Amino acid sequence: MIVAANFKMHKTRKETKEYLKKLKSINFEDIKVRVFPPFTALFEDELIGAQNGYPAINGAYTGEIGLEQLKEFNINKILIGHSERRNILNESQEFIAKKFEFFKKENFEIIYCIGEPLEIRKKGIKEVIKYLKTQLIGIDLNYQKLIIAYEPVWAIGTGVSASIEEIKETHYEIRKLTNRPILYGGSVKLNNIEEILKVENVDGVLVGSASLDVKTFKQMIQIA
Ligand code: 13P
Repeated sequence: MIVAANFKMHKTRKETKEYLKKLKSINFEDIKVRVFPPFTALFEDELIGAQNGYPAINGAYTGEIGLEQLKEFNINKILIGHSERRNILNESQEFIAKKFEFFKKENFEIIYCIGEPLEIRKKGIKEVIKYLKTQLIGIDLNYQKLIIAYEPVWAIGTGVSASIEEIKETHYEIRKLTNRPILYGGSVKLNNIEEILKVENVDGVLVGSASLDVKTFKQMIQIA
């Protein structure tokens, strides 16, 4: 079971340090917990991963962070393919696949995100899977440190998660493509995490807004 927190563009270094300290006051030996703070709040900790990274050691990439910077904090986990990077930062599948290859070679644990927009969901599961497959082009689905996160775009930050039936059918289809763990993300809250985690082929959750409050996130871990 994996429970991961994506802070997105929230929290400072000081806040993240306090968060981690509070988080570790509970025992979660059986559960993989991950925390993805912004770059400026990265520090060395076995729970911490990066929300992004440029596929190069270093170089002339203004505004980017590469392997050299991540290694400074011994970071070996990364989120790749998040819909906010695909849609707001216009990352192409080609570029995302390049990132995947780079960080795979560096042996990073990769939480690789996929998810369809609402107009595709409305067309039904067949179209959803067809769409998700386009987001898996160039991705090694057998990579031993890969974790898939299924995050329907229309469920992210909306307060409306996918229904249990939608999660079930989608994870079932993704399972046919890979044996790696599959997380669900998109408006996971204290009041729905339990039923979501019970769904077949759901191996954990990737939590955005509800993870920002450490008390809430701790309760989520306890439920898991
Ligand atoms: P919310 O939990 O805020 O919907 O965000 C989900 C997400 O994008 C996690 O990566």
